[in-house]
Amino acid sequence: MSRVYNFSAGPAVLPEEVLKEAAEEMLDYKGSGMSVMEMSHRSKVYDNIIKTAEKDLRELMGIPDNYKVLFLQGGASQQFAMIPMNLMKNKVADYIVTGQWAKKAFQEASKYGKANKIASSEDKTFSYIPDCSDLPISDDADYVYICENNTIYGTKFKELPNTKGKTLVADVSSCFLSEPVDVTKYGIIYGGVQKNIGPAGVVIVIIREDLVTEDVLPGTPTMLQYKTHVDAESLYNTPPAYGIYICGKVFKWIKDMGGLEVMKQKNEEKAKILYDFLDSSKLFKGTVLPKDRSLMNVPFVTGNEELDAKFVKEATDAGFVNLKGHRTVGGMRASIYNAMPKEGVEKLVEFMKKFEEENA
Ligand SMILES: *Cc1c(COP(=O)(O)O)cnc(C)c1O
Repeated sequence: MSRVYNFSAGPAVLPEEVLKEAAEEMLDYKGSGMSVMEMSHRSKVYDNIIKTAEKDLRELMGIPDNYKVLFLQGGASQQFAMIPMNLMKNKVADYIVTGQWAKKAFQEASKYGKANKIASSEDKTFSYIPDCSDLPISDDADYVYICENNTIYGTKFKELPNTKGKTLVADVSSCFLSEPVDVTKYGIIYGGVQKNIGPAGVVIVIIREDLVTEDVLPGTPTMLQYKTHVDAESLYNTPPAYGIYICGKVFKWIKDMGGLEVMKQKNEEKAKILYDFLDSSKLFKGTVLPKDRSLMNVPFVTGNEELDAKFVKEATDAGFVNLKGHRTVGGMRASIYNAMPKEGVEKLVEFMKKFEEENA
């Protein structure tokens, strides 16, 4: 067996300890005589798995009792519709558009009401986060929406926008559990887990109780109402049971490591190694305004498309895979999520140095 350093933006690297444990439990989960994949989601054994996962997540993030935790399907993209369907009571929402994912969410919301683009960084290919300290928030906005970490462009909100008292909704798919978070600042925090937490197929939604109502847009399907899933504790229908089980293992892995403070320290150390190199390199350049740089997704270029392609190919051959930038931006992108070991980043930088010398 040989494992590569996987810099994919998602689905992405998972902790090796978690994968090994799952492999050991594959045929017989804790004496049940079956795999978690084969288990009824209504069984006692599974109930313990999903309840423990929720409990551990609540502990890790310090989620207050007046927030519900949901394990749903449909990916982050389904939330682009579910959010306006459930929250647009006045049919007005304000969107801060800092990348493709925020833009998609904005476009989807426009189908259900008046979505206002109150700020954007599209003028400079989403390479920065706009000043959000005094935006023209609509008086009747049902919520203000952000994508907190922009997976494709490598920017992150270091400070949350001033929503002037309106409910904040955040897509945290690519920075979920990467650092401590004050849940009380948000109405909804949600994310697909395939970036930083688990296998594709699960989306986690953390929602403040008062936002869970029957007062949704007419025609909203039962499956797309938060209340359906809150009332049934994520077991209205068959949940993505195996995926939730793996998420639960990743929560334990983070807890064992010391929690989100420690995770943040580790992520800052890793990101610094790469950004320091990019700032000193004559060949490679980071593409993001330094103050807005993400700890998770690090895009960079050589300035020469052929050289970019040569780098990606040689890196792949050397065991550093999925470094090609998003198809809409080109260049390279190293995603260095929680489960990427520091050693992986150090070795990548060594490889980049060598490539720079050879191609000077
Ligand atoms: C990957 C990603 C999405 C889309 O996730 P799906 O689960 O594929 O729908 C949305 N938002 C962000 C920030 C992402 O990184």
